[in-house]
Amino acid sequence: MEKINFIFGIHNHQPLGNFGWVFEEAYNRSYRPFMEILEEFPQMKVNLHFSGPLLEWIEENRPEYIDLLRSLVRRGQLEIVVAGFYEPVLAAIPKEDRIAQIEMLKEYARKLGFEAKGVWLTERVWQPELVKSLKEVGIEYVVVDDYHFMSAGLSKEELFWPYYTEDGGEVVTVFPIDEKLRYLIPFRPVEKVIEYLEGLADNDPSKVAVFHDDGEKFGVWPGTHEWVYEKGWLRKFFDEITSNEKINLMTYTEYLGKFTPRGLVYLPIASYFEMSEWSLPAKQAKLFVEFVEQLKEEGKFEKYRVFVRGGIWKNFFFKYPESNFMHKRMLMISKVVRENPEARHYILKAQCNDAYWHGVFGGVYLPHLRRTVWENIIKAQSYLNPENKVLDIDFDGRKEIMLENDNFIATLKPHYGGSIFELSSKKKAVNYNDVLPRRWEHYHEAPEATTPEEKNKEGVASIHELGKAIPEEIKKELAYDWQLRAILQDHFIKPEETLDNYRLVKYHEFGDFVNQPYEYILKGNKVKLWRNGGIYGKEKIPATVEKEIELSEEGFVAHYRVSLEKPFKILFGVELNLAVHGVMETPGNFEEKEFEVNDPYGVGRVKIETDKQAKIWKFPIKTLSQSEAGWDFIQQGVSYTLLFPIEKEIKFKIKFKEL
Ligand code: CA
Repeated sequence: MEKINFIFGIHNHQPLGNFGWVFEEAYNRSYRPFMEILEEFPQMKVNLHFSGPLLEWIEENRPEYIDLLRSLVRRGQLEIVVAGFYEPVLAAIPKEDRIAQIEMLKEYARKLGFEAKGVWLTERVWQPELVKSLKEVGIEYVVVDDYHFMSAGLSKEELFWPYYTEDGGEVVTVFPIDEKLRYLIPFRPVEKVIEYLEGLADNDPSKVAVFHDDGEKFGVWPGTHEWVYEKGWLRKFFDEITSNEKINLMTYTEYLGKFTPRGLVYLPIASYFEMSEWSLPAKQAKLFVEFVEQLKEEGKFEKYRVFVRGGIWKNFFFKYPESNFMHKRMLMISKVVRENPEARHYILKAQCNDAYWHGVFGGVYLPHLRRTVWENIIKAQSYLNPENKVLDIDFDGRKEIMLENDNFIATLKPHYGGSIFELSSKKKAVNYNDVLPRRWEHYHEAPEATTPEEKNKEGVASIHELGKAIPEEIKKELAYDWQLRAILQDHFIKPEETLDNYRLVKYHEFGDFVNQPYEYILKGNKVKLWRNGGIYGKEKIPATVEKEIELSEEGFVAHYRVSLEKPFKILFGVELNLAVHGVMETPGNFEEKEFEVNDPYGVGRVKIETDKQAKIWKFPIKTLSQSEAGWDFIQQGVSYTLLFPIEKEIKFKIKFKEL
């Protein structure tokens, strides 16, 4: 009889630093009911990956669930598939850390009673040299997408078998996930899934269809809880899968015990198809979407899609400099803490992938996820002796200055306004400058309505299909920054300029200081920076900005001297962008010599003092990003600009005090 082998896998993950209620809700809506229903179907077999942060949360909050997993393993219903413990993108971390991360989760799988041999490839970010790292920790198979294989030139009909892949003389087995199944399960009626699988059945006993996808699609994604549980999708699915004569359910290991992979292939650096859109810089991502739409309209997409490729995951580090900086800071510390288990543990935590990129979930746009990465980098670095140094941290060929004492780390970019791009407090383990600027994203111009195709479909819409328009109240507050957001950014602004123009980026910048290079000398704990630039009115007036920055026990002090070659009435503004995201701020205009910032759920309390009366502008920096639920208009931080009137010369100091 014609048959098809079927491997069914799920991947459950919550990022480190996610809110407790998110874990709780996901647990109640998906992780718990899923396993409870699985328990009712002893014939059903699931290949399961749980990420470390989620296992740790469950162990602490729902320990009985760990027992349930253990009993399902014992009954042969679960095959545990591992990954890096803290769910890092393996391609983006050093080999030593890959090994430590995978070993940690293998150790956990042993606690569940399973000796894991397979890897769920986080975000399916494949890089050929991973083979060696995987072999070193005893991994025999890895699960990737059919898209990886198609990018290598294989046709869809060849993708119902696993293959070997090789690098440096080492070999692992790669299983292709069937994309069609990813869109059917669990979004379409069970009959459609069965019909599709039956259609794949033939006389080759080794033919296999693999589904392995996010467990959150079973209850957490909008509309899916009702569909999967209340309307009975999952019970029906388990029932039909286990009773259908044509479908032969198995685990990865069972498959490899029976059959040999089909041959040898080489996969390019790739992830799933959607990732190739998301990882492109916004302008190119828009073109990419247009291109795909055009192929679809012409009815050519299915045939030619194997040749359609966008960007690669690692270029999120190109797309988002803040993500890059965080990543390179993590790498910098990873290198020097390998012999220190406690510090190392924090670095492994800092490798959790979610905060480094952005697709259909908030990712890098979510301040609480970035904060957790920074928290762990800072905690790891706190084990090292403080040291001031000049080095190129983020590999852009330009040196940063890192000032460090027992309490603070300040990283300055002399070539970018001589500003502070990281101000980390060791006591609070927060980076006060963890502020994402407002960027245009290609989906900001998404079509306003759902497609007719979606309206006709049965089942429940997948996230990828949700159409949406930007609400008017967001549109009028939406602005895009021309600058990265740092601390001590130096502006020249005309006296009659308004806060609204400033915050909505409709003002005119008269100086050339904000994003231009400063010269510097590092002397002991102090760095002196200066730039001979200009004010550009009707004619250029040469102007010099000097600032001497010194770390203190409670923050930093900056001494400024600003001088113009010719008298000119203008405001000199010093902008501080602080990662205040727990307390919602509104734009404000006030005159003080000192003010306090209070963000109890974020960076805590801070005092800013100056020795000259200043006019102060503050406004929240709100970014627009997409998430599974729709639009997120998120406060990334608050910009405070101290404005001092100047005609010829001014000297003042600004003090940053942690409270
Ligand atoms: Ca650099």
